Amino acid sequence: MPTVLVFIDHPGQALHKGQLELLTLARNIGEPVAAFNGDLTDAVRTTLGDYGVGTIYRPSADLDGALVAPKAAFVAAAAREANPAAVLLPNTFEGKEIAARTGIKLDSGVITDAIGVSADLTVTKSVLAGAYTVQAQVGRGTPIITVKANAVAEAPAAEAAVPEVATVDAGDFGPAARITHRAEKAASGRPALTEARVVVAGGRGTGGDFSPIEDLADALGGAVGASRAATDAGWIEHSAQVGQTGQTVSPQLYVSAGISGAIQQKAGMQTAKVIVAVNNDADSPVFEIADFGIVGDLAEVLPQAAAEIRRRK
Ligand code: FAD
Repeated sequence: MPTVLVFIDHPGQALHKGQLELLTLARNIGEPVAAFNGDLTDAVRTTLGDYGVGTIYRPSADLDGALVAPKAAFVAAAAREANPAAVLLPNTFEGKEIAARTGIKLDSGVITDAIGVSADLTVTKSVLAGAYTVQAQVGRGTPIITVKANAVAEAPAAEAAVPEVATVDAGDFGPAARITHRAEKAASGRPALTEARVVVAGGRGTGGDFSPIEDLADALGGAVGASRAATDAGWIEHSAQVGQTGQTVSPQLYVSAGISGAIQQKAGMQTAKVIVAVNNDADSPVFEIADFGIVGDLAEVLPQAAAEIRRRK
């Protein structure tokens, strides 16, 4: 069976949902192996085995705090060693940059924004700012694919593996820049935007008050997103921006409130399984992409929805 290499960058304690989804997807295609950067504790090693990982590749150099170039060198080195049918990475800003650099090193094609990968390595993805969904295949080298969160439901393997650990020479990145300090961000208790099953997003229609958005997100156990109009206005941090120049999300449910549904916003959220739009203008283009629409003031609609959801819990 061909191997499928998954890049796992792991500064934290436990593997997160997006990483488990990538391992599950890899198992649908072949035998998962991991290019693992981070603290390989016994617990992490066991989890990797539970998801069917046969081999864990570790970098020879310390990649702690490394930026993308050394990580791409490591992924490429692991791929040369594993000779996989494909390499899977998360569809984050960093994942896409590492994918591109790895593609150059391996002389291979890269596909980003995947929402599905079949066993014959046909990739389903959206193109042209989300206007079309197409199927694509890499025609050269080892396919390198960045996959959006929620593309598959994560599940452990029927039979756990006992992973071997192998070290690969990732080169020496001695004087290259490292991140030595990360500002601590107050924990919101909400899931990461790109991995959340539910995203509640607000736009200019919030008038700067994101409390109804945050309250509904909390009632649904979801993440908070925003349009660019809202992030440009400084109402919410830039990392919450969804769209062409922001994050791409693919949740089970996307609630769009006070957002007009411009094509650049659509590019980041239209692969959501269900879209609910709340807008006080019945002619707003957002209703063209919504599965369910509510014409009304978000400051009235959202609190009612949150109260009803809490009542039913
Ligand atoms: P508006 O278009 O002003 O819409 C506000 C909506 O709120 C309106 O539909 C209005 O009817 C409704 N509303 C007002 N009051 C209420 C209320 N009380 N209750 C309910 N509804 C109300 N945009 C993104 O979002 N993401 C991107 O990544 C992005 N990238 C871009 C890249 C480029 C190169 C360019 C040129 C633009 C980009 N944009 C992006 C901007 C995009 O074109 C739109 O300008 C932006 O999405 C508009 O944000 P909005 O829908 O919040 O605001």
